[in-house]
Amino acid sequence: MASRKSTRSVRLDFSAFFNIVNGGVRGSEKTNHSVDPATGEALPQLPIATKEDVDEAVNAAKVAFSSWSRTPVTERKAALAAFADSFESYTQDFAIMMTKESGKPLRFAVEEAECGPYWVRGMNKLELLDEIISDTPERRVTVRYTPLGVVAAIIPWNYPIQLSFVKLAAALSTGCTIILKPSPFAPYCTLKIAELAQQFFPPGVVQGLHGDEDLGPVLTAHPKINKITFTGSIMTGRKILESASRTLKRVTLELGGNDAAVICPDVDIPEVAQRIADFAFANSGQVCVAVKRVYIHESIYSEFRAALVQATKKLRVGNGFEQGVDLGPIQNELQYRRVCGFFEEMQKQGQRIAVGGGGHSKSSSSGLFCEPTIIDNPGNDARIVLEEPFGKVPAPDLSCPILPIMPWSSEEEVIRLANSTEMGLGASVWTNDLDQGDRIGRQLEAGSVWVNTHMDAAPEIPFGGVKQSGSGVEGGVEGLKAFCNIQTLSVPKEVM
Ligand code: NAD
Repeated sequence: MASRKSTRSVRLDFSAFFNIVNGGVRGSEKTNHSVDPATGEALPQLPIATKEDVDEAVNAAKVAFSSWSRTPVTERKAALAAFADSFESYTQDFAIMMTKESGKPLRFAVEEAECGPYWVRGMNKLELLDEIISDTPERRVTVRYTPLGVVAAIIPWNYPIQLSFVKLAAALSTGCTIILKPSPFAPYCTLKIAELAQQFFPPGVVQGLHGDEDLGPVLTAHPKINKITFTGSIMTGRKILESASRTLKRVTLELGGNDAAVICPDVDIPEVAQRIADFAFANSGQVCVAVKRVYIHESIYSEFRAALVQATKKLRVGNGFEQGVDLGPIQNELQYRRVCGFFEEMQKQGQRIAVGGGGHSKSSSSGLFCEPTIIDNPGNDARIVLEEPFGKVPAPDLSCPILPIMPWSSEEEVIRLANSTEMGLGASVWTNDLDQGDRIGRQLEAGSVWVNTHMDAAPEIPFGGVKQSGSGVEGGVEGLKAFCNIQTLSVPKEVM
């Protein structure tokens, strides 16, 4: 039966999970659960939100919006800061839950949990001020940013804590209210974040709903939701845009990537190879902005390949709670099967595997483990080169620990190859000639381009994809604007 009780000032309990509606916890007649991908063990039961829960949450969010949007921004930011401080006191609890639900090694789960407060504090420093764009003897025109209203945040399974905070911090500081909808594969931390939030925000300002595959479409179609902020696959992004168009919701889409790293001939080979291995295989490759294709200058191809193989061999795969493990399992069975499909295809095609090459590695448990793998020059048209090996088949958006490497000879050629996919999330250039890095970087079709690093995101930096990798940005003042209407206010200097 549905139940409801207050959550105010109660120490969080990580053994029971609820939907969060209008300031209270909520059960459901229908429940399900997800599993620990390292062991296959069942995690706690979760209530599946009903249509009535959604309507009640949206109505509560709408009511809360009328006062939250008028609460001074300094007070909204103070509540966010207090929430972040409290969340920080639970870092270890959230990290343990994160390792259980996502499989990622505990030290990386701790890093992700630390990202929550980091993101709130960083976003709190940003200011979205009125801009006077015309000031004549006749009139003054001001551009103002007014909050959009009720936001639904639809979140994937790979970085649920970080992405919950990225969306929540921007929505709340601009004056919107938010309903968090986690992925059914990794919902636990996000629901607990929503539960903790009840101690710091009025009812309806932050809510959390877990459901099955029907819940996302109900939110995107809901007439009283004003904005969808979505992170996930390209294929789902298309469906969301289509559904949201019927009610003309505002939509931000952070979608899949197929990031290229361009390695120039003058790099320190062992050092850069190590960093490329880290950026390619972090979280077992299940990162939207992981390095997913490496273009190595032909003059250093063999030497770089050998160094990359060495760096990759050092990575330890296993249960994320074991000491010294670098890569946990693939997060869910569906994704694991996709990855296995890639391995089978590689074998059929006779691809040269420089290191790795299989699932079920290095662990005696039944977990969804997969060895980090490098494919040696599979050809520029290979599926593994053109698709993101993470997300959904058959869209060109499949992330996993399989990394293709290819040689290049001229700048013109490598720029063309790096730009040859439908995706454009991130890209990097590795060189000791910073002019060359800048020159190549400017020609790469990606939302974020880095020289001598990759995956470098921060609250003050707008982040988003070009081409099919997304629409709009999160982070930075531009990211705050995405939660606002633009109003131009024109006031005459004299009365009529
Ligand atoms: P997904 O698209 O399958 O699911 C993402 C979310 O959308 C989940 O909460 C899911 O329940 C929901 N959803 C599914 N169908 C829906 C529908 N029809 N309407 C509304 N919601 C729906 O993605 P995933 O497999 O969870 O995550 C992997 C993908 O996310 C990869 O492609 C990865 O590159 C991408 N990603 C992008 C970024 C970024 O910032 N650009 C960050 C992380 C992950």
